[in-house]
Amino acid sequence: MFSFELDVHTHTVSSGHYTHDTVTDMIKYASQTGIKLLGISEHGPAIPHSCTASYFRSQSLAPSLRMGIHMLYGAEVNILDFAGSLDLPEDIMKNLDYCLAGMHLPCIKPGSLEENTAAYIHAIENPFIRIIAHPDDVKYPVDYRRLAEAAMDCHVLLEINNSSLSPDGYRGDVKENDRTILELCRKYRYPVLLSSDSHGHSNIGNFTYALALIREINFPEELIINRSAEQFLRFLYNR
Ligand SMILES: [Zn+2]
Ligand SMILES: [Zn+2]
Repeated sequence: MFSFELDVHTHTVSSGHYTHDTVTDMIKYASQTGIKLLGISEHGPAIPHSCTASYFRSQSLAPSLRMGIHMLYGAEVNILDFAGSLDLPEDIMKNLDYCLAGMHLPCIKPGSLEENTAAYIHAIENPFIRIIAHPDDVKYPVDYRRLAEAAMDCHVLLEINNSSLSPDGYRGDVKENDRTILELCRKYRYPVLLSSDSHGHSNIGNFTYALALIREINFPEELIINRSAEQFLRFLYNR
């Protein structure tokens, strides 16, 4: 039986869609689930009705321990072009606990495989980006070998996103892409991050569909960084 200590890709009402839950609602739920470390990662300002730069600036004032849960405050930053431009300035990203970078339709139209790969790799090379969000999205074809090698070079995690793999997911039939990412991580003995991408409390720590794939391909449990909050924090702060 797998047991996991962290989920660092979650959204509250502040992201502007799918939920009315506040940070407190998220923490209350997380404290009942066995999660030890919860990361709040609201969408960057280029997603309509999401947080402004000043919201992210104030995240450094938020308490790091609440109801026994170690809290991290980050951002799911948007990649805006194939040069890897991002929608938060570095002086804000550097004061957040971590940033994920992802591609979303309101912010960037899908390019060729070469263009999408270049966009991700430029984001990976940004020193404030620590995680690539849902690189499995079929709308943005990617060269996964080059993506994995860049991630390893820059000490960035690739995410297996449970919402993508859910039957009601909206990123297309992502399973083959996630399988490819996992096989590369297995080959290179590089850790992978499981994320719920929960909008609101209800899916915090829920990795059901990611785990189904992990079991199907017999992916080694020791390469899942969610096993230990301590191991994840060591990864995050030892670039
Ligand atoms: Zn996203
Ligand atoms: Zn998200």
